Amino acid sequence: MLDADFFRRWMRATAASVDREAERLTALDSPIGDADHGSNLQRGFRDVVTALEKDAPDTPGAVLTLAGRRLISTVGGASGPLYGTLLRRTGKALADASEVGREQLAEALREGVDAVRTLGGAAPGDKTMIDALVPAVDALGESFAAARTAAEEGAEATTPLQARKGRASYLGERSIGHQDPGATSAALLVAALEEAADE
Ligand code: ADP
Ligand code: MG
Ligand code: MG
Repeated sequence: MLDADFFRRWMRATAASVDREAERLTALDSPIGDADHGSNLQRGFRDVVTALEKDAPDTPGAVLTLAGRRLISTVGGASGPLYGTLLRRTGKALADASEVGREQLAEALREGVDAVRTLGGAAPGDKTMIDALVPAVDALGESFAAARTAAEEGAEATTPLQARKGRASYLGERSIGHQDPGATSAALLVAALEEAADE
């Protein structure tokens, strides 16, 4: 079972991985965006880790709703409200359970991903974070490792797509041939689940 500590480890592992990959995320956001995705998420997840240390929420749902709130208030770019909504809605779906199973987490994350789709209007194939998140949630019932692989494949599969949402969509056909930064960071978020489980 996954307790509040697991969810804190998930957020810490995400922050560490965003720190390691910040330059790459920003580099991906350079040809098809405004070169700030790495620094946006770095600022956001560092703040999440600090807030979790200070407040020490004691349920999985409370950890994720706090993390989501912090992302919304610290990340100025499109990704802040979107990732913030993902975590807040997932946390809300977990309610006040003190421990949850992986399948329960998969169901809650599906609600979170649906909320991101409603907020941003993106569907699979629009070259956004949705392209990594949807396959990850589909695979999460199987295992954390399967979810990680599905998210990584989903992120890589954004390269030949033309962006239909977000800044990259302004480029039209010129967005083709570049991997989407948000799908790439979404794969880091999903991979951090497996790290948190292994710790
Ligand atoms: P900004 O574009 O405001 O600078 P970021 O660079 O931090 O914000 O994030 C860009 C990423 O956000 C994109 O690569 C894409 O994956 C994601 N994104 C942008 N708009 C949407 C949307 N409407 N729905 C889902 N994801 C989106
Ligand atoms: Mg950007
Ligand atoms: Mg920006």
